[in-house]
Amino acid sequence: MKKVVLGIDIGGTNTVFAWVDKSGNILSLQEISTQGTEPAQKFVDRLGEKVDHFLKNNSDCLLIGIGVGAPNANHFSGIIQNPPNLDWGEVDIVSILSQKYFCDVKLTNDANAAALGEKYYGLAKEMDDFIMITLGTGLGSGIYSNGRILYGDNSMAGELGHLSIDPNGRLCTCGLKGCLEMYVSAKGIKETIKEMLDKNPDDGFLNSLNMDNLDGKKIDAAVDRGNVSALNIYKEVSNKLGFGLAQAAILFSPNAFIFYGGYSQAGDRLLFPTRVALESYLMDNLKGKIQLLQSGLPVGHAGILGAASLIWHSKPLLMKAIGE
Ligand SMILES: [Zn+2]
Repeated sequence: MKKVVLGIDIGGTNTVFAWVDKSGNILSLQEISTQGTEPAQKFVDRLGEKVDHFLKNNSDCLLIGIGVGAPNANHFSGIIQNPPNLDWGEVDIVSILSQKYFCDVKLTNDANAAALGEKYYGLAKEMDDFIMITLGTGLGSGIYSNGRILYGDNSMAGELGHLSIDPNGRLCTCGLKGCLEMYVSAKGIKETIKEMLDKNPDDGFLNSLNMDNLDGKKIDAAVDRGNVSALNIYKEVSNKLGFGLAQAAILFSPNAFIFYGGYSQAGDRLLFPTRVALESYLMDNLKGKIQLLQSGLPVGHAGILGAASLIWHSKPLLMKAIGE
């Protein structure tokens, strides 16, 4: 029998899941729409149909565990708590899946899952200290410090998206003002574009952007053409991101920040000015010591691989107790 782990990455719009072996080989990858307006049980039933179908058609595979990455996931309780964009309330996903499949089930938040994917299967294999930054609708982060994910007391550690960089800044849905996410994410970029349009209502490029479905690739292409408005969008994003990363760097002294998710596809268009900004905000003894890297894994893979690693690379409880 071939031992496999089911890695699941639950997103606000789509859920990607894959069968993963210990070396990180993906045997089969599938996607379903998350449909957050439906009750969570319906989602679990739709997912279950696909899982059952795979197991029935791959009788040589032995499911040894399920790892789940999801927004607002509590690693300790196994509960997904009021995830944004999903009308689910609280979902005890670990109990639901372990009772259905009689195997080990573990949960972590989506950005932590991406960090673990990078640690075990991507660029961070040799790193004990790095911070994963996921740039999409929002800004997520997973802090890998001293050889493990930092969870804190209640599994909420490492929410750099809600690090306030301006106490008088934009109002965030978390109740704070000036959260990094309100400047560095699809949500934040839209706000920046609106402010730019208030000053320049006739700007041709800014008016050509679809604000309901902002396309990062369109901004990338305009940056490549040297469009001043597009360059100014990324200048604003990079400056705020560099400032936020500098605060995180002072706390955690990481070897690298690794970028993942939709807007990370901008690559050096964002990384280069962010590096300049970061260096300008770092204290002297950290300058020149921190790398900014783009994820080494294919788009969409870090989350599922990291979720699967929760099972493949879980440490025995005794080792956890003595701080390993
Ligand atoms: Zn916030």
